[in-house]
Order: sequence, then C-alpha cells, then structure tokens
Amino acid sequence: MTPGVRLKFTGAIAALLVLALLVDHASPGFALAKVGTVVSQAIQQTLRPPRAKPAQRAVPAVAEASAFALADIPSQYLGLYIRAARACPALSWQLLAGIGKVETDHGRTPAPGVRSGVNAFGCCAGPMQFNIRNGPPSTWDTYGDGTPTHVYQPQYAIPAAAHKLCTDGLANPGASTADPCPTVAGTPAQHQAILRYNHACWYAHQVLALAARYTTTPTPTPLPADPFAQALAHDPHLHPTGARGCDPAADLGDPRLDLRLQSLLTVLATRWTLEISCLHSGHSRSVAHTTRTSNHYLWRAVDIDRVDQQPVSAHSPTTRALLAWLDHLQGPLRPQEVGSPLPLGHRPYFTDEAHQDHIHIGYGPL
Ligand SMILES: [Zn+2]
Repeated sequence: MTPGVRLKFTGAIAALLVLALLVDHASPGFALAKVGTVVSQAIQQTLRPPRAKPAQRAVPAVAEASAFALADIPSQYLGLYIRAARACPALSWQLLAGIGKVETDHGRTPAPGVRSGVNAFGCCAGPMQFNIRNGPPSTWDTYGDGTPTHVYQPQYAIPAAAHKLCTDGLANPGASTADPCPTVAGTPAQHQAILRYNHACWYAHQVLALAARYTTTPTPTPLPADPFAQALAHDPHLHPTGARGCDPAADLGDPRLDLRLQSLLTVLATRWTLEISCLHSGHSRSVAHTTRTSNHYLWRAVDIDRVDQQPVSAHSPTTRALLAWLDHLQGPLRPQEVGSPLPLGHRPYFTDEAHQDHIHIGYGPL
C-alpha cells in the first residue's frame, strides 16, 4: 500500500468512526473491539430510511470535515460540536470547534481551569472556558445546565457554548449590520458572537481561520488574500528588515504564518514599534548547532531586533518591558519559547550567546 492510499484509507475509517459516533446507538468511548459492529450498525442505519434520520443529518456535516479536522479533533468532541451546532441556524460546527481549539485545544491543554478549578485569570473553567465567577448569574449559570461541575464536561459545556453563540447573534444573523472586525474574514454576525465570547478581533481571526481549516469546502485558486494577514503586512508599527539575511517583509502577509504569531504581532504592535529580522524566509531549517527543526522554518517563530527603536539588549528598558508583558500573557497567545538577553530563569524563557541582540518568540505545534 502506498502512503497516499494508506492515508485515504485511514481517512475513510476515521470518517466512519465519526459517523458511528453520531448515530444514536453508538456512544462515545466504545471499545475498539466493537468498532466493526458499530460501524456496520451505522451503515445499516444510514441505508434504512425510517431509522436513519440522525445519520442522514450527520453525513453532510462529517463530509465537511477536512483531514485536518479528523486528525486534530477528538472524535467525542467532533460529535458534540456537530450535534450542538445543529441547534442554531447560523452556527457551523467548525466555528464551535474553532473556539474549543483556541480555548483549550479541545480539552487537552494542561493549563489550570480546564479539568478543575479556574484559569490563570481566576474566572473561567472547563473545555469551553465559561466564566463561573462573574454574576450572579455567572455566564455558566446563564447558558449551562444549572449544575456547577458540568462546566468541566464537554457533553454539557459544548452545547452551552453553542447556546451562548446563538444568543449573541447567530440565531438571527441578518440583524447584525456594523462589522466590529473589518479586517477579519467572516460575517458581521460571526464577529459579533465571537467577540462576546472573547473581546478581541485577533481571537475572531483565530477561530474563523481554524473553522476554515476544519472544512473541506474546496477553496478557489489562487487563495483570496486574507485581510488580517494583509493588515499585518501593512501595520505601521512593524518594520521588517533584511539585515540578518531573512525576508520578513514577504512573510508578514503570508497566510502560512502561524495564527498565534499573526495575533501576537498584531497585539504587540498596539504597544510597541518592532523591528522584525526573521520570520520564515531566509532562516535556516535547523536550530543553530542542532539537528532540531527550527520553529522559524515551520512559520511559528519571530525574531525582534528593536523595540521602540532601541536595539534589544539586557540593558534596554523596552526589551525588559516587552519581556515582562510576555511573561504575564496567559491563554492561547502564550509562547512556548522565548529567547532573549535577559536571564528570566523560568520556562519558556532562555538566554544564550545567540540571543544577546534579539528576542526570539516561538510556538509549538498548533
Ligand atoms: Zn529566532
């Protein structure tokens, strides 16, 4: 079997597994030995018209799941997103899944507040990060099922998130007129609903860009320019330089640039003027003196040489200010690696000979 054929075959099995999960007779978490039975039940149900109603409605949704969606979203979560989104006219399961991805990587992040307690901001809990400390009534009181501990369980949290997004504009998308995020792809109603979830256009950009990657809808070629990336490329507070042999000017507007890096640079540019020396193009494939693939090569890292015109150094107040700001950053934009001239002494910060004159910020796999 060639790798290509094997990939397709695996994709088909994954689609069948998801289909099985969506049929009433199957329940999430079934034993692997039962998969054959469950899948054949699913197929039989699809073929038998009177009993096939849920499966029939599920098939188009699963057919819209990209290979990335099937690989990235746990099957239990995928089934929950698809079912929950059906309750709302203008809510796609991909948008809901985009929120679940950005908030907690579909419940997989080890951060506080996902499986118990509250997050680093002291407010939010569970895979969909509902505020349980505001109110009364708290956001969870309003949209959840009334049981406090259910906020940690996806089978309750995901329908509650769908309920909230629907209430915040997706039940009646025609009513939204003003677009709060004109540089973000998507509709004004989507932007409004997402901003009510987390008030930042970079957040809406991340959610909707992920939603697009979770969909198999064929995209017209060439790809239309992403307005968010275009805005980034023309941000007057970001100054790309070719001084180190890289070509960051070409990379800033490239849609391959990691979503978190796009967002982080957008936020940083509201506070400082940055000289950017390297993103992807022109950077070596490996981390210096190692065989490790650099996050630059993977479009997930940036090197900053100047902050508000000051060259990066251990003695520069703006270097210190930017690093202090980064250190307080929580949530989806928190970097996984930060190299700088300052010995901060805790992860993800590091300092070495190669990072005396720039700040390196990198992310791990999305
Ligand atoms: Zn770097």
